[in-house]
Amino acid sequence: MRPFTYQRLLQPSDMAALSNASSRDAFIAGGTTLLDLMKLDVMRPERIFDLDALAQTDLGSIEVADGGLYLGALVRMVDAADHEQVRDNYPVVSQTLNLAASQQIRNMASLGGNVLQRTRCPYFRDTSWSACNKRNPGSGCAAIGGFNRMHAVLGTSENCIATYPGDFAQALIALDADVLTISPQGDRTLKFSDLHVEPAERPDVESTLAPGELIRGFRVPSGPWTRRSAYVKVRDRESYEFAMASAAVALDLDSDIVSEVRIALGGVATVPWRAREAEARLAGKRLDETSAMDAAEAAFADARPHEHNAFKVKLGKATLVRALLQVKAMEI
Ligand SMILES: Cc1cc2nc3c(=O)[nH]c(=O)nc-3n(C[C@H](O)[C@H](O)[C@H](O)COP(=O)(O)OP(=O)(O)OC[C@H]3O[C@@H](n4cnc5c(N)ncnc54)[C@H](O)[C@@H]3O)c2cc1C
Ligand code: SF4
Repeated sequence: MRPFTYQRLLQPSDMAALSNASSRDAFIAGGTTLLDLMKLDVMRPERIFDLDALAQTDLGSIEVADGGLYLGALVRMVDAADHEQVRDNYPVVSQTLNLAASQQIRNMASLGGNVLQRTRCPYFRDTSWSACNKRNPGSGCAAIGGFNRMHAVLGTSENCIATYPGDFAQALIALDADVLTISPQGDRTLKFSDLHVEPAERPDVESTLAPGELIRGFRVPSGPWTRRSAYVKVRDRESYEFAMASAAVALDLDSDIVSEVRIALGGVATVPWRAREAEARLAGKRLDETSAMDAAEAAFADARPHEHNAFKVKLGKATLVRALLQVKAMEI
């Protein structure tokens, strides 16, 4: 590991220390992504700011009110997943967290760190590969033309096809969450859908956060669809594995007719992926296997598979159909 300076932030006003922040700074919450990547020499921060003490503030709280759910960025994955009101009123949130990683990691890892976790592309994580535009801008992409079974089919560019690996982000984007941030420049709120950036020309730029900007928490608006929601995750093994394909679905039904539907797809895209074309296909329709398959076709109409990952298109469609029918069948 390379040398770095370490400072604990004890209260939000300590953020002043970040007034000269740059991309060489990093926050540490649970450390389950950051420390791994530092040991691999992929991330090389010069200054690390420890957030742990801020968990005593609203960054560590969960609040459920009529208007919606607030989740502090330093809440541990396990605490949000097992929170009774989250489980009952926002099952898709609880399920995305419970189906992620392992119990030990969920005990340690924070919600803010979870949404900012980095791709598992093996060429990104192994510095002996020189061609990786995300790690080494302008160097090329070893996955295009390499082994790309795990890679994305949606939101890719000719510069990067890395999959966004997280699960929780699919619940947040499906439920139209907001992200609350703090920085020495002040507080701001942005749509969760505006947090991540598709690779396009700059795969190394993954979010719209400024250097030194801290996620304070997430606000999830309530609606009749949040209770009728679920997450289906398909992976190579039943636990401790990232999604090969997944679908987060929230539904409001009038008899069998769809009055509101929210769909996000994981394991298949470069960023948390809201499937708006699929939602449009279902609006006002009877939800059955035929309409669900039609929506799945729309969701993957723009898919661009590579040599080893064409199966993800078929798998992604089947996963979405399964999620839609499962959510329809929920007893509320
Ligand atoms: C073996 C393994 C399997 C896993 N499987 C899954 C899985 O199936 N599904 C899944 O979703 N995840 C999975 N993960 C990822 C895991 O959930 C994340 O590593 C974890 O959630 C990150 O949280 P953390 O608090 O440890 O983040 P950290 O490692 O502390 O931080 C991660 C990044 O976020 C930044 N950061 C942290 N908090 C903030 C904040 N509040 N504001 C701004 N920046 C911040 C840090 O600077 C760093 O760049 C797995 C991880 C491992 C090691
Ligand atoms: S897919 Fe992206 S992360 Fe993977 S090697 Fe290519 S540029 Fe790097």
